[in-house]
Amino acid sequence: MKLLLIGPQASGKGTQAEFVSKRLNVPHLSSGNMLREEKKSGSELGLEIAGYIDKGALVPDKTIWAMIKKQLEAHPEGWLLDGFPRTASQAATVDKYSAPDKVILLEVPDLVCVERISGRRVCTQCGKEYHVKYKPPKKEGACDLDGAKLVQRDDDYPEAVAKRLADYHSKTAPLIKHYGAKVVTIDGNQGIQEVWNEIQTKLGI
Ligand SMILES: [Zn+2]
Repeated sequence: MKLLLIGPQASGKGTQAEFVSKRLNVPHLSSGNMLREEKKSGSELGLEIAGYIDKGALVPDKTIWAMIKKQLEAHPEGWLLDGFPRTASQAATVDKYSAPDKVILLEVPDLVCVERISGRRVCTQCGKEYHVKYKPPKKEGACDLDGAKLVQRDDDYPEAVAKRLADYHSKTAPLIKHYGAKVVTIDGNQGIQEVWNEIQTKLGI
């Protein structure tokens, strides 16, 4: 089965992607995973990518597309694409290589995403992550491991999150329209197990 997984930041997308990929025994193709795999394989394309990454440069679109095409074609039995394509025009290009059978849309209300992200705190010393509500430190504002100060990342402030969510919605709406009847909507505002149950039921996997 060929699947595309769409969801906003903090929707639990990564966790569900792992479940689906294991259940169907298909590769989980996120852009990060694909870049790492290609680099590790030592292929010509991998070497080209490594060249950009090692210099700290952005990998150009042309190279990204070559990689995606190669990975989709390498797995004719199926795959789970995660986080890509992001726009309707990218989706049209992916369809030319190999179109998804179904599109899983993980829906989480914006307010919930904002709460999940803006509650994050990170230790200035060791980088350990906390959440003021879901994973609080023993002592408020201090790391359990080293007692150092916990701070909020600039990207995690509610205004920054709201801006990214608005961008996500404006790009995702045409994407959903593009895939039409292939879209399977899942309520992502429930526990991890409940979300997984709904995916299994609705996809019949
Ligand atoms: Zn720490």
